[in-house]
Amino acid sequence: MNKIIFATANKHKIAEIQALLGDSYLVLSPADSGFDGEIPENQNTLEGNALEKAEYIYSVLHQPCFADDTGLEVEALDGAPGVFSARYAGDNKSDKANIQKLLDEMRDKTNRKARFRCVIAFIDDREIEHLFEGRVDGEILYEPVGDKGFGYDPVFRPNGSRLSFAQMSMEEKNPISHRGKAVRKFAEYLKSQSAKTPQMPRIGFGYDVHALAEGRELWLGGIKIEHNKGCIAHSDGDVLIHALCDALLGAAALGDIGTHFPDNDQEFKNIDSKILLRRTMQIIQKAGYAVNNIDATVCLEKPKIRTRIDEMRQILAQIMEIPIDRVSIKATTSEKLGFVGREEGVAVYAVATLDF
Ligand SMILES: [Zn+2]
Repeated sequence: MNKIIFATANKHKIAEIQALLGDSYLVLSPADSGFDGEIPENQNTLEGNALEKAEYIYSVLHQPCFADDTGLEVEALDGAPGVFSARYAGDNKSDKANIQKLLDEMRDKTNRKARFRCVIAFIDDREIEHLFEGRVDGEILYEPVGDKGFGYDPVFRPNGSRLSFAQMSMEEKNPISHRGKAVRKFAEYLKSQSAKTPQMPRIGFGYDVHALAEGRELWLGGIKIEHNKGCIAHSDGDVLIHALCDALLGAAALGDIGTHFPDNDQEFKNIDSKILLRRTMQIIQKAGYAVNNIDATVCLEKPKIRTRIDEMRQILAQIMEIPIDRVSIKATTSEKLGFVGREEGVAVYAVATLDF
């Protein structure tokens, strides 16, 4: 699935556009992608603001993203409130105060013509900018009518209708509204693009080593192995799961196990590594990825673990919510060479592929 970031903090807007795009795109907020700062909005035009927001998020996250800006443009007021629509009556952004200011400004105006405009700016994965505009012409009423909608809806009546925007249901408003039109244009464009570009799975690699010491438990692939030595670790030392978590996070380019579960954090002391794998799954799922398959090689001189491998595959498949035939675990010794050969430690190499 294609991921696309909507530079907005408005969850309602994200759900709305997700519904229009269907399942060929996953729409994420900047917060879903790890951004928690302020998005700037300092331009004099709707186009400028939409582009500024999209460019800013692109510069931080380097992923396809889009932003929108909407304004009411009144002919007799030379296009005001325009880009200042949301804060026309001041920075505290009250719909009621904005409407009152507009009605005051329009008191002696006979030309009531106005239009709503919505602009969407999109930056694609080649850093090319695209603009999509929706507009609706109408007139400013003499007093507020209706209690639906938001913003200036109670004083705006679209041409060809006897109702103000605030008297219309969402079903009536969406087909003719500026937002509805811009969003549909954008959605059509994205759909035409997704048909052209097949998605490649993403590959990640993980590697982990732990020293072995007598008298400790040996945990591998979520199960306890009978042995006189076990891994020295802050957690339960399940080196197989650790390498796997790194492969999964690596495929999503979301850091590594150390950044998400620091080994100086008391929360993770002696923790069951299966919990770390579950949390890793939540992290990559939240970013829009699903596991395709994994493959790992355990390098361990003793004991032989071949007979336990299917149990490990079963447990890991269950946690990752994939069929067992997509989970491969192999075991090898290192022919008595190196730290593995001297039974001083155990190493695991893992790869994972993710779909989106
Ligand atoms: Zn580890």
